[in-house]
Amino acid sequence: MTAFSRTPHPSPVPEDRRAEILADPGFGRYFTDHMVTIPWTAEQGWHSPSVVPYGPLLLDPASMVLHYGQEIFEGLKAYQQPDGSVASFRPDANAARFRASAGRLAMAELPDELFLASLTELLTVDRAWVPPAGGEESVYLRPFMLATEVGLGVRPSAEYLYVLIASPAGAYFPGGVQPVDVWLCTDFTRAAVGGTGTAKCGGNYAASLLPQAQATAHGCAQVAYLDAAEHRWVEEMGGMNLFYVFGSGDSVEVVTPELSGSILPGITRDSLLLLAKELGCEVTERRISAEEWLTGCASGAISEVFACGTAAVITPVGKVKHNEGEVVVGGGEPGPVTMRLRDLLTKIQRGTAPDTHSWMHTL
Ligand code: PMP
Repeated sequence: MTAFSRTPHPSPVPEDRRAEILADPGFGRYFTDHMVTIPWTAEQGWHSPSVVPYGPLLLDPASMVLHYGQEIFEGLKAYQQPDGSVASFRPDANAARFRASAGRLAMAELPDELFLASLTELLTVDRAWVPPAGGEESVYLRPFMLATEVGLGVRPSAEYLYVLIASPAGAYFPGGVQPVDVWLCTDFTRAAVGGTGTAKCGGNYAASLLPQAQATAHGCAQVAYLDAAEHRWVEEMGGMNLFYVFGSGDSVEVVTPELSGSILPGITRDSLLLLAKELGCEVTERRISAEEWLTGCASGAISEVFACGTAAVITPVGKVKHNEGEVVVGGGEPGPVTMRLRDLLTKIQRGTAPDTHSWMHTL
């Protein structure tokens, strides 16, 4: 593999416009000046890694991705550290999950070194887009891969394109952490064992849009899905994993649905399991039914529920709504375990708490 080539014609957004965007970036609305592209062909493997100006991709209308959806992606964030360096959170885990997703979708696997090198290359060129240290802002990195072979036969493509784009991301909760209401969906499922639920492929998200619209119509921000076989066991949300806090004070058990074979193995989930244990909580991965969720909240046995993922880190759940009614979680306010975990993880990511697990990777 040769070194990344860099465009000789950079076309940066003017500095004053960039400052305007960084003052209120929102999420996924603006993109940095460049992107990385690395093509793969059966003959050449991964080759010609390049940093090019951000811009449209030229695709033949018969490109396989446009017909059979052979596409995967990842999402991770980079943060400016107090010493001025830029670091991302567990990118090696994203690289491994990207390979696993590629395997499930019968796509070429990008070596981890190339995945990590692409992040460093892009953020070196687009360093000016990294928000200053100290705040809640970050740069969201979106690696993705699509099938580019031209043809309408249904079979794995013989050509792929890996692309990395980056987008400045504002604070998820600019006015302080707010609980969200969740729609417990019984009309649709997200994934079945043996399907693609453990892979991060675009098709999973396409299928989630109708249930998401249903949740929105019920005033809910997120959908919680049940398993496809029994419609009984809680799986996860459309883009986040779920946690339940039982008990309070010195006797707290933190429970999350076990990886059932149809749940996306979240990197935040994995990290919080470890941090919760280190904070002295009992930690359990097991099945939890929708009934236990609703009765547990009603009786007070469940004191807190939160969702976790890269985008919001931790989002408290205030209320769970379903076809037959609704239940308030705890007092409807963010609980103490939720907020302690959130505080600890966001501090590790921003370089203001010790990184005892070497999770931060300097880019
Ligand atoms: N579940 C789904 C379906 C997701 O899309 C995500 C976001 N990647 C998560 C869980 C959380 O994963 P992570 O903590 O790795 O962002």
